[in-house]
Amino acid sequence: MKPVDRHLADILAVVRPLAPMEVELEAALGAVLAEDVVSPVPLPPFDNSAMDGYAVRAADVAGVPVTLPVIEDVPAGDGGLHAIGPGLVTRIMTGAPLPAGADAVVPVEWTDGGTIRVRIDRPAEPGNAIRRAGEDVAAGDTVLPEGTLIGPAQLGILAGVGRRRVTVRPRPRVVVLSTGAELAEPGTPLGHGQIWESNSFMLAAAVREAGAEGFRAGAVTDDPKEFMDRLDAQLIRADAVITSGGVSMGAYEPVKEALAPLGTVTFEKVAMQPGMPQGFGVVGPDRVPIFTLPGNPVSSFVSFVLFVKPALRRMQGLPAEPPSSVRAVSTAPVRSPAGRRSYLRAVLSGAEVSPVRRQGSHQLAALAGANALMVVPEDVTELPEGAEVEVIPL
Ligand code: AMP
Ligand code: MG
Repeated sequence: MKPVDRHLADILAVVRPLAPMEVELEAALGAVLAEDVVSPVPLPPFDNSAMDGYAVRAADVAGVPVTLPVIEDVPAGDGGLHAIGPGLVTRIMTGAPLPAGADAVVPVEWTDGGTIRVRIDRPAEPGNAIRRAGEDVAAGDTVLPEGTLIGPAQLGILAGVGRRRVTVRPRPRVVVLSTGAELAEPGTPLGHGQIWESNSFMLAAAVREAGAEGFRAGAVTDDPKEFMDRLDAQLIRADAVITSGGVSMGAYEPVKEALAPLGTVTFEKVAMQPGMPQGFGVVGPDRVPIFTLPGNPVSSFVSFVLFVKPALRRMQGLPAEPPSSVRAVSTAPVRSPAGRRSYLRAVLSGAEVSPVRRQGSHQLAALAGANALMVVPEDVTELPEGAEVEVIPL
């Protein structure tokens, strides 16, 4: 059997970052910058007031209380040229340009709030409540380097340096296609021998949570031709495809039967539990990466975490690391098959990890009650209670 790490390495050797494209700022959330973003101006662009108050010469308010004439108001957005002479003040609002001659702002709270004359009760040091030009960003500074994942704050500073469009690697579009003659669409009645189709919902959601766009292409039966037709129809909008089911050792394995003859998708046994039957390759004229995951819901979920998620990061232009893990102490003894790496469903709480009772790869409710995967290495078949283990938080 193929080691887990080698399977991931093989996948990452094929998957490439998506080509950069220019998008409107509003569409950039969740994308990864494909350019260094430089500010054309200093930020703030001009010296301005940090508070509502009075622009003064600090020397004029050294001895308090003192009452001084207010010569004018300077609101935020005021484009005029203002100056104060000795012994004079202007009323100034937060964000308004500091008048020439002023070297401090006295907050309104330190005064009687006067509009013609103002009584100032506390002295202000030079520079008080002034935001200096360039104290956040100097003109020509790189505010965000290439490779930055754009979250709300990053999107904010893109706007803050005047950008309307930005060059990014887009969120990969991932089509999720389930196979299985036994699958019924949730919301429809179950016939005998049927189960409700859950994998495409789960995997499309996992895709979205990983920062890509997930599209359910629904489910097809176990007819290889139907599978191939649906896949062909979906390829046009896909940067990657995930299928579930139809890759095991039995008969009626449509994914394997349809894709194996192409010669571009490899089906293998990976030394892991759950999730042993795995397939990966490329399909179509654009050589779209395809992950053919096993149908058991827990198997397909674990396969996504281990193999698909790092590949999606690579496509986004982010570092493609295996899932991050922590160390914790197991609250129960565990068993694991020899030669396979186990990913036991578990509840991680502080420094302790408790495997859940139901560990079947079909037991999706048990997965939904877990928050972590407890990793048992290939060469370990038993661990006592109290053993320190690797844990992947979910
Ligand atoms: P397969 O990999 O197609 O042999 O399926 C393995 C097991 O997973 C079977 O019990 C299937 O019924 C179940 N299964 C396959 N696909 C799905 C799905 N999309 N949703 C829920 N269960 C599934
Ligand atoms: Mg099946």
